Amino acid sequence: AAGQGDLPPEVWEKVKNHPCYSEQAHHHFARMHVAVAPACNIQCNYCNRKYDCANESRPGVVSEKLTPEQAAKKVLAVASSVPQMTVLGVAGPGDPLANPQKTFKTFELVSATAPDIKLCLSTNGLSLPDHVDRIQAMNVDHVTITINMIDPEIGAKIYPWIFYNHRRYEGVEASRILSERQLLGLEMLTARGILVKVNSVMIPGVNDKHLVEVNKAVKSRGAFLHNIMPLISEPEHGTVYGLSGLRGPSAQELKALQDACEGEMNMMRHCRQCRADAVGLLGEDRSDEFSNEKVAAME
Ligand code: SF4
Ligand code: SF4
Repeated sequence: AAGQGDLPPEVWEKVKNHPCYSEQAHHHFARMHVAVAPACNIQCNYCNRKYDCANESRPGVVSEKLTPEQAAKKVLAVASSVPQMTVLGVAGPGDPLANPQKTFKTFELVSATAPDIKLCLSTNGLSLPDHVDRIQAMNVDHVTITINMIDPEIGAKIYPWIFYNHRRYEGVEASRILSERQLLGLEMLTARGILVKVNSVMIPGVNDKHLVEVNKAVKSRGAFLHNIMPLISEPEHGTVYGLSGLRGPSAQELKALQDACEGEMNMMRHCRQCRADAVGLLGEDRSDEFSNEKVAAME
């Protein structure tokens, strides 16, 4: 089918109705994110903790935080008034797998009442290997891992620390652990037939050239899509943590990198970097219509 790209037929079958993966589907199927995951277990230099995780979302946008119960209620309210609603994602504002109880409770509540809604989550990957069984048991449709490097020396410029096994690691050691866990989690998921997309944030002067290597590494481990996103620095929000002096790529720089990777595997070019509480068709934001207050009044 048109839009299938070079995806194998069994993968295309799974993603053709997913607004984020199919150019056609994004006009007809809606997705929503619920912001149930406030904590994070790593520090990315491009993250400003006051705002949404840049795993999937634009930094600098504050989303409403919800309990799993509030989130499930909101999903049902949206599903009953947005007929195209097919996908529920947990993508922040922190790391969904640094908040496993909240993330999985939300999935449990939603699949009990709306079993047709597909579930997805995004993660920095640090605790991913610990949760693969549960991800499979919950029938999570696909997982997005943000992988910005496979070289810990480059990682040390992106991640000042991680919190792992009850302690904090810094520098190259932190990035070595993070990278091992990300790639292990990716392999474990693909071995079980769970779709994995990889997101990378392109940071000029830090990992821009290196992302071609990342592209090869994630492809060889079975990721079905690679989504290279531009770093978005938002000066009006002050200096993003540890990122002074860095800038986002130009549109030409981004396209040149995506083209350099194109032969390698399917690249995703229409990701909108939606906020963690996005609602509706891609490119459309109806989150205000479904604020906590309004959902509470929808009894
Ligand atoms: Fe921020 Fe997300 Fe990085 Fe955590 S993983 S530090 S929430 S951008
Ligand atoms: Fe889809 Fe990207 Fe938006 Fe996530 S952030 S819902 S992958 S378009």
